[in-house]
Amino acid sequence: MRIDVLTLFPQMFEAPFSFGIFKRAINHKLVSINLHNIRDYTHDKHHTVDDYPYGGGPGMVLKPKPIFEAVESIKSDICAKEEVTALPIILLTPQGRLFSQQIAQELAKYSHLILICGHYEGVDERVREHLVTDEISIGDYVLTGGELPAMVVIDAVVRLLPGVLGSETSPLDDSHVNGLLEYPQYTRPAVYRGWSVPEALLSGNHAQIAKWRREQTILRTLKRRPELLDKTNLCQEERQLVERLTSSPNRSQLSLDKESIE
Ligand code: SAH
Repeated sequence: MRIDVLTLFPQMFEAPFSFGIFKRAINHKLVSINLHNIRDYTHDKHHTVDDYPYGGGPGMVLKPKPIFEAVESIKSDICAKEEVTALPIILLTPQGRLFSQQIAQELAKYSHLILICGHYEGVDERVREHLVTDEISIGDYVLTGGELPAMVVIDAVVRLLPGVLGSETSPLDDSHVNGLLEYPQYTRPAVYRGWSVPEALLSGNHAQIAKWRREQTILRTLKRRPELLDKTNLCQEERQLVERLTSSPNRSQLSLDKESIE
């Protein structure tokens, strides 16, 4: 996958992608991340990327011209090298569709992505109207720029690309992949400060372990994010488990206090 990012601060991306899984993915050419400074696409002496908002008000707005020219230049570079059928051009904005594991899975299917990071008050509306094909928000809060949101999106997408996570980490059981939260994880020692690892995990019996994990997944989702269960396909036995747990007098087991969470 090739990801092109338009930003005023390319240096911000250096650290997150220089370590661990990401570094390996880049070294193994599973992904390439090209950073473009929007300022490089200006033509005036001062390299002006922003201007005052029409109508007045505080803050500055990113001008459309450098962003259009940067995207057009990236697109022609990509198209000169290979045939591309779909090329999402994504604006990071708190007004976009809310990012999720499902959207990460959807984006991971493309061979190219272009991400545009806004700054200050945001970008000229004509970028949204006539250039971008998608708008993504990472949550209902406002950040100073689109760089951290772009890194969040890139991280979530890249770890889904084939070969990026080694066999030591499987994305299949992760929280939100199948609409549920992951079961609790433990490592050695089997007893730490008197707290034991659940018996089922020490049994070595794969069927028993799988059953325990599935039950914990359901129980945990029910406790923390019950609304997720409504959208998930559970087998009859699992539905019965949910019904049993939600029926009084078992309801009290579902409280989120520390004693009863595990
Ligand atoms: N005035 C704008 C917010 C601008 S914040 C508004 O009210 O909608 C400046 C930039 O930060 C945005 O252009 C966007 O690129 C980025 N940004 C801020 N919060 C974000 C979020 N929750 N998700 C994605 N991008 C965000």
